[in-house]
Amino acid sequence: MKCKICKATAVVALKSHNAGFCAACYKEFFARQVARGIEGQKLFSRSDRVLVALSGGKDSLALMLELSRQGYDVTGLHIDLGIPGSSVAARGVVERFCAVHGLRLMVRDMTAEGLPIPLVKQRLNRPVCSACGKIKRHFFNKVALEEGFDALATGHNLDDEVARLFSNTLRWDTAYLSDQGPLLDGEQGFARKVKPLWRLTEFETANYAFLMGIEHHYAPCPYSPGASFTTLKGLMQRLEAAMPGRKLDFYQGFLKRGRPVFARRETEEGQPLAPCTDCGYPTSSGDLCGVCRIREALRDGSSA
Ligand code: SF4
Ligand SMILES: [Zn+2]
Ligand SMILES: [Zn+2]
Repeated sequence: MKCKICKATAVVALKSHNAGFCAACYKEFFARQVARGIEGQKLFSRSDRVLVALSGGKDSLALMLELSRQGYDVTGLHIDLGIPGSSVAARGVVERFCAVHGLRLMVRDMTAEGLPIPLVKQRLNRPVCSACGKIKRHFFNKVALEEGFDALATGHNLDDEVARLFSNTLRWDTAYLSDQGPLLDGEQGFARKVKPLWRLTEFETANYAFLMGIEHHYAPCPYSPGASFTTLKGLMQRLEAAMPGRKLDFYQGFLKRGRPVFARRETEEGQPLAPCTDCGYPTSSGDLCGVCRIREALRDGSSA
């Protein structure tokens, strides 16, 4: 197969675009898709300071590298979860990556915060992933607000977004359907959240990471449940194989026609937010936020 742009030998074939690319033209293609994703949804501008959540996975590292190549003002934030084996490996990858590319990095250590995930797991009577997700989101938001960043960017790609949309739709979860998308405006103690890779699939991002020589995190989290998302992603993969391009159409159709309908409904029926009585983070519980509840459970050994 030949590169669609320069006719050199192609190294990447993309069915959804019915095209092959050589390495140089593929990097251009990836950059264009990221730029379209940012500009089309007005995610942020070149004068904004963007905090990029770096897990150590290829998506977040690819995002950070591409944004810096495009001249955006980026700083990485890594949350060290204190999980034996996997957290040390993830932090090492992120620190080496930022050092090699000369990128700014901040690290928040959950052991120092009194919230190492193994301890949280030991004290909670339910699967740890939802508490872990809560803790990560809490600290990403906190750092973004306290350090005055204009946006918090995550490496979610089109497959993540479509699997989540599909899962929210299967449950008709109108609250989640009302604000799922590449842009969530900042309000009431929440940072502006953006997902610049929303137009790119996992495969496309993995190819970019490979061609850019990005080393990523291989030690999987020992608590990983193997996630139901994997099943949903598999289903969407089969749909995409039979009907190339359908995933992006489905997601863009939701953004244009579905989300506004759910957003209107939630504005009428949504839960009011008030500051957490301990840390001030917005919560709809009327009392402590999710993370302060976890802290409380760790203190008295009860379940949160
Ligand atoms: S698999 Fe679960 S516990 Fe492990 S890092 Fe992910 S969310 Fe946290
Ligand atoms: Zn080419
Ligand atoms: Zn709180």
